Amino acid sequence: MTLTYPEQLEVIQKHQASAPVQTVALADDLGLKVWHVPNWPDDLSGKIVKSADQGGPSGYAIYVNKGHHVNRRRFTTAHEIAHFILHRQFIGDGLVDDGLYRSRLSNSMEAQANKLAADILMPRNLLNQHIANGVTSVARLAEIFQVSESAMSIRVGAPN
Ligand SMILES: [Zn+2]
Repeated sequence: MTLTYPEQLEVIQKHQASAPVQTVALADDLGLKVWHVPNWPDDLSGKIVKSADQGGPSGYAIYVNKGHHVNRRRFTTAHEIAHFILHRQFIGDGLVDDGLYRSRLSNSMEAQANKLAADILMPRNLLNQHIANGVTSVARLAEIFQVSESAMSIRVGAPN
């Protein structure tokens, strides 16, 4: 199963109809199987691995540190989805993200993945709808979108 880039964006948009965006279901629709792994060290966030037996129809599996808070796990899943969409040719057999989302990819590629992860979890139009409806507290918005307050405060403070 290979979706084109516009098809992938369409799948993402379909999952952004309401908050919180369901990251595992989104991954599933992109052909990625997500595994939550116990007993990982805290400074390991996630991996995306080419795997015929554990991967989804795309041939890739995402592994997430089960010990992390749900908001963090959701961000990690979105971050690995972003690597799949943006950097698939660099994944090779697998790509490992440490606690600060650093891998063997360049810092600028990691920044791209973080940006797309934020775009996935906190879509502008949905966020603006909530703000227009009077939800202006960062804490409440973070709760609605199931992201950390720090991620939401960056999102709300940034122009785009
Ligand atoms: Zn990364």
